[in-house]
Amino acid sequence: MAVKKKIGIIICDRYHRCAGGKCFRSARDKEGAFSRYGNQEIEIVGFTTCDGCPGGNVEYAVDEMMANGAEVIHLATGLIVGYPPCPYIQDFHDFITTKYGLEVVFGTHPIPEKYKLIHDQLGTWKEPRWQEIIKPTMPDQKTRLAYD
Ligand code: SF4
Repeated sequence: MAVKKKIGIIICDRYHRCAGGKCFRSARDKEGAFSRYGNQEIEIVGFTTCDGCPGGNVEYAVDEMMANGAEVIHLATGLIVGYPPCPYIQDFHDFITTKYGLEVVFGTHPIPEKYKLIHDQLGTWKEPRWQEIIKPTMPDQKTRLAYD
């Protein structure tokens, strides 16, 4: 039997009522940041919010996800597309990789077109560091529109 890649997802607490529709859809269809897994099966073993700025739950949630076998943590696309984008996203990345030795991926589902349009206007993602962060979830326009 093929080994599944086990994944934990941390979402921005601004979207704490989110039922994960776009994240689970893109995980199923291997779109956005999940396209990196290709034909490998994936299993989402944890899904929670950061618990609000400055993201105190990140310190605790990863322990629980690891107990379920999490090998990769995805920082959900909401951290990237919110207004403003999460100011702590790089800190979360560095904390999780340093403390737990886990891989951390920026984003989950493809960036919806409506968010791209406003961030282009605002110039939010112009800096090189943001260009790196949006890379895994910036698909073609057809896919962006499909996630609007
Ligand atoms: S902006 Fe960042 S720290 Fe604040 S609620 Fe969202 S993910 Fe958490």
